[in-house]
Amino acid sequence: MNERLMNRALGAYLGFACGDALGATVEFMSPKQIQKRYGVHTEMIGGGWLGLEPGQVTDDTQMSLALGRAIIDHHGWNLRAVADNFLAWLDSDPPDVGNTCRRGILRYRDEGLLMGLPREDDAGNGACMRNLPVVLATLDRPDDFEVWSLEQSHITHHNPLSDGATLALGRMINALINGQGLESCLLEVERLINQYSEFAYTPYPGKASGFIVDTVQTVLHYFFNTDSFESCLISTVNQGGDADTTGALAGMLAGAKYGLEQIPMRWLAQLDRRVSAEIRGQVATLIKMNS
Ligand code: MN
Ligand code: MN
Repeated sequence: MNERLMNRALGAYLGFACGDALGATVEFMSPKQIQKRYGVHTEMIGGGWLGLEPGQVTDDTQMSLALGRAIIDHHGWNLRAVADNFLAWLDSDPPDVGNTCRRGILRYRDEGLLMGLPREDDAGNGACMRNLPVVLATLDRPDDFEVWSLEQSHITHHNPLSDGATLALGRMINALINGQGLESCLLEVERLINQYSEFAYTPYPGKASGFIVDTVQTVLHYFFNTDSFESCLISTVNQGGDADTTGALAGMLAGAKYGLEQIPMRWLAQLDRRVSAEIRGQVATLIKMNS
């Protein structure tokens, strides 16, 4: 097992969960409201509109874990198992469920459909946010990566912008985990923007809603304009809006780039222990599926 690769993969998944738990406190707040209430929001204190415990994660991490569990339990790809895990998660009365996610999961429950027809209003960030386990299980199998990513996405979100972002972020993470550095990441971003000019993020428009374009612009802006895991995450979540999801995705990229040891101890220590234990287990198992 390549130790550095493992370290970056753990950095990505734990960084993702840290971003979720840190950002959830200020989800749906504006940068001004955050500044007024917290100055700069830097600690994993819970609260927010969901009234979370410190270190508690939300749908972003829970849906990722549900997807990872399906891959692990079935030693590979089983789309129905993924949908079943999403349904079991919805039935568990989670603190937060996105509207498009709920609509897709109920469509599966009520009609047995594993994908919806393409829709313009499916351009939320819910499919993109939960795709990391697929990336980890397919590091050296780009064809599987593409098929699995799109299939899991289309259970709830069927939209070209969502698809484009999910594939691009997955390929960026793959490059970082494989140690290919920032140039390969930038190439992926360039490809995405060539395909869908909406994603251009310079100059940064400053919106951070759950619309996949706003989400990706925010994540890319702060990932490429900060120089540490901590500054990347703090800048991202203080932009507010869908802060748990932008935080999670920024934490995923920054964790893969800087590695596990750059994630501040105070955040790792505060993160829900059951969640971090399951993430460590999933990373070890998913990475092994590549050999
Ligand atoms: Mn969330
Ligand atoms: Mn969110």
